[in-house]
Amino acid sequence: MSKRFVLVAQCLFLAAGGVHAAAQQPRSYSRADFAKVRKYDAHVHANTLDPAFLAQAKADGFELLSINVDYPDFPTIDEQARIAVTLRKKNPKRFHYATAFSMRGWGTSGWAQQATERIAQAVTDGAVAVKIWKNVGMVEKDANGQLIMLDDPGFDPVIARIVALGIPLIAHQGEPYNCWLPLDQMSNDNDREYFREHPQYHMFLHPDQPAYETLMGARDRFVSRHPELRFVGAHMASLEWSVDRLAAFLDAHPAANADLAARMTAVQVQSLQDRDKVRRFFIRYADRLMYASDLTYAPDVTAAQFRKEAHEFWLSDWRYLATDDSQRIESIRADVAGLALPRSVIDKIYYTNASREFVRRQTRAESLRR
Ligand SMILES: [Zn+2]
Repeated sequence: MSKRFVLVAQCLFLAAGGVHAAAQQPRSYSRADFAKVRKYDAHVHANTLDPAFLAQAKADGFELLSINVDYPDFPTIDEQARIAVTLRKKNPKRFHYATAFSMRGWGTSGWAQQATERIAQAVTDGAVAVKIWKNVGMVEKDANGQLIMLDDPGFDPVIARIVALGIPLIAHQGEPYNCWLPLDQMSNDNDREYFREHPQYHMFLHPDQPAYETLMGARDRFVSRHPELRFVGAHMASLEWSVDRLAAFLDAHPAANADLAARMTAVQVQSLQDRDKVRRFFIRYADRLMYASDLTYAPDVTAAQFRKEAHEFWLSDWRYLATDDSQRIESIRADVAGLALPRSVIDKIYYTNASREFVRRQTRAESLRR
């Protein structure tokens, strides 16, 4: 049913003297509404030109924000940019992208200029955000062998340019909290498997590396340092294990938002303990949270496989957030009841917030010039 039809139907009810017409509308969506409701996945990675991702997004009613990342397992950032620009040209209404910059040359006189020029060019090519990844804080080192932290003043010229360009910064700092816990204390099997297979990334085994709170502290100082920056904390700002902590972060930083990418099971674990509390969190921060999956389409899966995976992933999250369906979530070995968030909250989390954030906004300097 189109929005216009709903409006017309409501008007007819009212015209017929139905003062209780609003009550005829269910407060939450159903599973059947999934494909019909306008949605935006604010964190995916399209690392191939194959059209299957966009075809599934169209079938399921999504726009996509594909995020380029300076990540060694992905194609180079130049190749990611080429893919993004091409897909955007073909589907400018459905496909959006965020650019990335390299940390190579950090500390040299040309680094900031190179990074800012790259970002400005990407914005000219249509990028609507910039991504900074967890290599800052965990991998990249300065000339003295010290890890480069996000609140390093060396980032200031790049951030100033991002602010001037009128686009947000998507920041992924740290890891899931589980990364600092022993395997048997992790809250889900996915993380347990991943860190069992990748002990080099399992920070519990590397006490010489920065602690979780050290990374969160650097991130918080960074956000405070740049109050004019439109900040998006990727992966629930790495505070996925506690809606209270994420609430405190959002309260402390009024210009910050958070995406939900790849952290839904951590929310579902909290939901099992106190569903009402998690539900209240989503309602209270309905203007600050953006639905996102972290789905990554690379040439190593077939189009049919990927489309099936994407559809099932999106539908599972929809059932959890939008409906009161109960479903089995294998990685936490539990049946989880849906939150049945109000339609107005779902519309914001699934569309309005991302479409508000991921556009280039006129900056103060530009509006003064006119
Ligand atoms: Zn990602």
